[in-house]
Amino acid sequence: MGDTYRSGFVAIIGRPNVGKSTLLNRLLGQKVAIVSDKPQTTRNQIRGILTLPHAQVVFVDTPGMHKPFHLLGEYMMREVRGALSDVDLALLVVDGSQPPGQGDRFIAEELVEAKVPVLLVVNKGDRLGDAEWLRGYEALGDFLGTVVVSALTGGGLGDLVRRLIDHLPPGPQYYPEDMVSDQPLKFILGEYIREKVLELTREEVPHSVAVEVEEVSPREDRELTDIRATIYVEKDSQKGIIIGKGGQMLRSIGQLARTEMEALLERQVNLQLWVKVKKDWRHQEGSLRSLGYR
Ligand code: GDP
Ligand code: MG
Repeated sequence: MGDTYRSGFVAIIGRPNVGKSTLLNRLLGQKVAIVSDKPQTTRNQIRGILTLPHAQVVFVDTPGMHKPFHLLGEYMMREVRGALSDVDLALLVVDGSQPPGQGDRFIAEELVEAKVPVLLVVNKGDRLGDAEWLRGYEALGDFLGTVVVSALTGGGLGDLVRRLIDHLPPGPQYYPEDMVSDQPLKFILGEYIREKVLELTREEVPHSVAVEVEEVSPREDRELTDIRATIYVEKDSQKGIIIGKGGQMLRSIGQLARTEMEALLERQVNLQLWVKVKKDWRHQEGSLRSLGYR
């Protein structure tokens, strides 16, 4: 590595659940993308910025690629294709604890079509399976190289960062060094809440949930911030599930989200949560836009 400053945009691509968001958060040392064991959790394109003395990497985390099935699905596909169109490098993230599958193949083909240089990142290295699987993944495309990592333990990430910077062009520092994400704070805080809903509720609820953070007001006289947010669902029955018996579920969601907000803001948080029904919001362009899915 010479003393030229390098920078560029790096897309994090892979089928749902391979650990893309976990990887991004780990690389940045801060939680900018939510993590879930339910697929297709990430809805927006999240940019995370890693600034080093000799380089700046702008990561683009994308929703898992999949076949569109309704409006929100199509929106997610557009985001993925958009993310690929102007990046310097893509990381194809795969799950090393499982053999290659149809989803990995589909995505590898998209990458070949997009003509982006690709580094193969075999994640979940802490639970790496058969060596035969590794060769199977390597056969999916013509990669610059392979790096085995664990987003969970941090293993291999130093190596990954070094290798990917080697493939970036000389370039400027695009963002100020203290900036970790280009997402508005309100959006990130809303995602924390959505993550807790996904974690705590049953199958039928997750994809029907959107969160809008209406107010973030730091108090001037105290180390305290007031945050007001609304959880939108599609049906009355889902509203019931999210509120829970005697409001117990909503309280748990609020407590878990608040703890993470306090860690991010380094202040106490007073979180007020509301639940509202917005029928069929996933199928309405207007609703998608007003909830931040442009
Ligand atoms: P995404 O859909 O690709 O963004 O995946 P997520 O980041 O949401 O992670 C999906 C699941 O895989 C979560 O339960 C993570 O905790 C888990 N996971 C992510 N990285 C690792 C890893 O390196 N090792 C193990 N064992 N689990 C991981
Ligand atoms: Mg994700």
